[in-house]
Amino acid sequence: MKQLLDFAILARGLSPKDKVKLVLFALRLKPAASIYLRISPENLDEAYAFEHALRMSKIVYCRGREKSYEEVRKIAGNKVVWGLAGLWIDYDLFHTLEQRKKFLEYKRLWEYQRDEKRRNRIAGELYGYPSCCIATYGKKPRNPYAFYKQLHAIDATFPLLPYMPCKLTCPKSIALSKTFAQAIKKASPSFWDHLQEVETYKTEVIIDSRNMESKQGYDYVVLATTPFRGKYWFYTVLSQKKYAVGTVLTATIRHHPTYADVRLGAEKRKIKNFYHERMLPLLKREY
Ligand SMILES: [Zn+2]
Repeated sequence: MKQLLDFAILARGLSPKDKVKLVLFALRLKPAASIYLRISPENLDEAYAFEHALRMSKIVYCRGREKSYEEVRKIAGNKVVWGLAGLWIDYDLFHTLEQRKKFLEYKRLWEYQRDEKRRNRIAGELYGYPSCCIATYGKKPRNPYAFYKQLHAIDATFPLLPYMPCKLTCPKSIALSKTFAQAIKKASPSFWDHLQEVETYKTEVIIDSRNMESKQGYDYVVLATTPFRGKYWFYTVLSQKKYAVGTVLTATIRHHPTYADVRLGAEKRKIKNFYHERMLPLLKREY
């Protein structure tokens, strides 16, 4: 497992959240894991290295087909220009053949959109989620604003958890979070330190779309117009104010490896006919 652990920590093609999942899986604290590896000109050998590490560690896995992904290249006037950046490959990892069997059953139910309750239970057990959190998964919130507010708070409170806890005070999630933190600290103090790094930057952001709208407020996707670590970033932010798509505001962003805290400032201007120019149809990641 040492090889897999090293790969998880050093790989350039894994998001911090997927790194955490892979570390926890390698430490056998997670029964199964589902992760995405991005391959770009900077890390061409990583799919090979990853699969080699999986074989050496005797991990059972399913590998998806390569799919291409784009990144924002520039923001020019009213246009967000995307360009091909590389390929991503999804991997589903298991410690046993029995787990893979369960996963394939889950996948079948998911593809045919059948038996949601059973489907969620299989997935929850497979990925090691607490039963209280499995039970609330996918339930429609009565108050969307409060629900989104809780989502943001959960991201900040439980950055290591690969699932949505049933509530901020869920005792099982608090206990799991502590176990995970201790195990990561012990396995790699440097990776643990990296997970604590927070950087704050000021930028203008563009209101890109609305995730949720309700009487109490809105959840927006915003695009930062200043590149951070060489890339343009999208963030989600909750606000009680109503903004049209294309509105430009000042913002202060606390960028944490697995989440961000966005504070919106003054409204600066509006971009007319704001749109995205993409080469590929938008593929959504599934979590
Ligand atoms: Zn719970």
